[in-house]
Amino acid sequence: MTADPADPEEAAVARFDPVLRTLMTFGLVESDGVEETNADEASRQWHLTPAVQRRLNSLASPAPPADKVVYFGHRCSSCGEHGPTWFNGGEFLCSACRERAATLVPSAGAIER
Ligand SMILES: [Zn+2]
Repeated sequence: MTADPADPEEAAVARFDPVLRTLMTFGLVESDGVEETNADEASRQWHLTPAVQRRLNSLASPAPPADKVVYFGHRCSSCGEHGPTWFNGGEFLCSACRERAATLVPSAGAIER
């Protein structure tokens, strides 16, 4: 295996050698075996295992903000209605109670001194 250290891309990738060795050590990458790509050089094709690919997908998608997550199967803590609720200030509230709470309760920074 020869990598040209003068190639900036090869040099940048070489900085991750410890990470790449770790991936190989823990079996997180797989090779398809030796494949003839050039007349004089045999190289393997590497790819991440399916479990790693699934994990990367979940890491790449950011968690939605708490006020955007809708919960089903909870009663509204305020009116007791069954339906979609949002986790708001430590309790599950339905849409109507959530809007009422937002208009009645002053913003968190507006505490009297
Ligand atoms: Zn409610």
